[in-house]
Amino acid sequence: MAKKQFKAESKRLLDLMINSIYTNKEIFLREIISNASDAIDKLCYLSLTDDTVGLNRDDFRIDIIIDKTARTITVRDNGIGMTMSEAENNLGVIAKSGSFQFKGEMDGEKAENEDLSIIGQFGVGFYSAFMVSDEVTVISRKFGEAEGVRWNSKGADGYTVTACERDSVGTDVIMHIKEDSDEEIYGSYLEVWKIKALVKKYSDYVRWPICMDIEHQERFETEEKNDDGSPKYDYRMVTENEVVNSRVPIWQRSKSEVTDDDCIAWYKEKNRDRKDPCALVRINAEGAVSYKAMLFVPGEQNENIFSGDNKGAITLYSNGVMIMEKCDKLVHEYFEFVKGVVDSPDLSLNISRELLQHDRQLRIIGQNLEKRIKSELEKLMREDRPKYEEFFKNFGVDLKCGVCDEYGRYKDFLRDLLIFWTAEDKQVTLKEYVENMPESQQKIYYASADTLKRAVNLPQCEEVRKRGYELLYLTSPLDEMVLENLREQDGKTFCNVVTDDLGFETEEEKKAAEERDIENKELLDFIKESVGDQIAKVKLSSKLSTRPCALTTEGGVTLEMERYFRAGPSEEMRKVRATRVLELNPDHRAFQVLREAFDGGDKERAASLAKILSTLASISAGDDLEDAGEFTDLVAALF
Ligand code: ADP
Repeated sequence: MAKKQFKAESKRLLDLMINSIYTNKEIFLREIISNASDAIDKLCYLSLTDDTVGLNRDDFRIDIIIDKTARTITVRDNGIGMTMSEAENNLGVIAKSGSFQFKGEMDGEKAENEDLSIIGQFGVGFYSAFMVSDEVTVISRKFGEAEGVRWNSKGADGYTVTACERDSVGTDVIMHIKEDSDEEIYGSYLEVWKIKALVKKYSDYVRWPICMDIEHQERFETEEKNDDGSPKYDYRMVTENEVVNSRVPIWQRSKSEVTDDDCIAWYKEKNRDRKDPCALVRINAEGAVSYKAMLFVPGEQNENIFSGDNKGAITLYSNGVMIMEKCDKLVHEYFEFVKGVVDSPDLSLNISRELLQHDRQLRIIGQNLEKRIKSELEKLMREDRPKYEEFFKNFGVDLKCGVCDEYGRYKDFLRDLLIFWTAEDKQVTLKEYVENMPESQQKIYYASADTLKRAVNLPQCEEVRKRGYELLYLTSPLDEMVLENLREQDGKTFCNVVTDDLGFETEEEKKAAEERDIENKELLDFIKESVGDQIAKVKLSSKLSTRPCALTTEGGVTLEMERYFRAGPSEEMRKVRATRVLELNPDHRAFQVLREAFDGGDKERAASLAKILSTLASISAGDDLEDAGEFTDLVAALF
């Protein structure tokens, strides 16, 4: 029988398939099953109006038959089938399946290089069978035809089509699996467990039953009896034909059929999550883009968060067929803790990772999802604050990074979701903070340290609290960056109590303070000299109500940033230091005692007191006490 040649384009694609350019070979099964499912769709549709089809909805099925001895997998359907000319036209021509059409649209010079990658990213339909097979035979009979057709190809050198017998309408795609190579154990595609797993992974929600013979152990009563006369059991292997796909996905069912609790149970099983999710979003959108979505905000951090495994945990389906397991292009990084599924019949199976980014429909879906996730989180915040705080503990950092991302592009979308500590047991949104502000308060005050307790205990906070104003207590350099990006809230700007002017002093008071500094210059110089290079400057402060001293910084680098940099990856980063300023409370007894020692000529005692105050200031700002021995001696000498 004369071999027919593939059309030039098809031949090229076939070459690529045979030479296995595509690493994700396992998708061949999804492609063949999808074709079978489409063929059944067509005949089922016909059966609605044509009695001669002779099949009911429940009769349609897809069978997968594995024959290890013959090294074949057969995917059989009782769908519409193909005539001889259809087999020839459909299976011999690849150009229809979209990949090449797309390639044609690309500009010429790029096309050659991107050949491989582009084709690799597409679903390639029927031809993908050649990724795992060295021979494919299709035996098909079209509905309404008396005769069947046999199409056979061993690959690039062509194919044959002949008439043949086939008892019933439908199609068998028989794939002869390649021999194992160094890179790939093709034989694994002849294992029932493997094929079953692939059906589960890619085709679990194909609406027609996918049936396979599955072997399992069965206990049975033997003829013999035990000594005491009780029945004796033994085990044997039995093969049963089972439906291996779950068919109707949970997210395709309506809210009246499936409760939220059902969805949560599904989520927990699927993600092996012990905790209930803290929010659930169910969407059934119809309109410009139709899709169904079921999204979950996990109740706890995924263990793999550091391995990056958690990224893009939304799975994309098109009509129940999985097209991407972890779609990280759907929502922005700040929401990538969200898990779940999106299913849209408007998405093409043949969508590539690169194209997804530019896909208009996907962008619309993504935007809608983000809005819904946000409003669900806002609802949680309103209705169950402790639960929201738990969520924020887990994923607040993603939102904060989102605020700082792309020069603050998303800050206004995210700002209302942020909460900040205003006491050791209280967190508020910025909006709430501003609403709570007394009329006299002009700025949003914040204090930053490496722990909450340290921030609360910063001496500079007292002056603010004394006036009945609240403070935001920040505990990471990221928090400071967040405020920097947000710039303001409802017209109120942020004020760092350590470094910024609190705005409490009148012009006269400021002037008086300057004069006071001049009066005390000699003493301040002496203190600076006594405490050494660690401190860049010593000054008097009116921020310190009851505390004797505090450490502040000048310039852009704060103490928190310095600590952050010290743990940094490069030597240069680790060397970054804040410019430390020792602030002293001139109204405190400690300062007066120091002054007396200085004025009385006891320089040694004055120097000791200065060092003690400086060390106390460092400790309260969170610096390590480097020489505890020296400090102990200094203090002990006072007794
Ligand atoms: P696509 O499915 O994207 O059109 P394929 O290469 O997968 O591309 O299949 C080409 C065509 O072959 C299908 O459109 C269909 O007409 C036909 N075909 C493939 N498999 C079957 C099948 N099991 N039953 C009937 N027709 C089929």
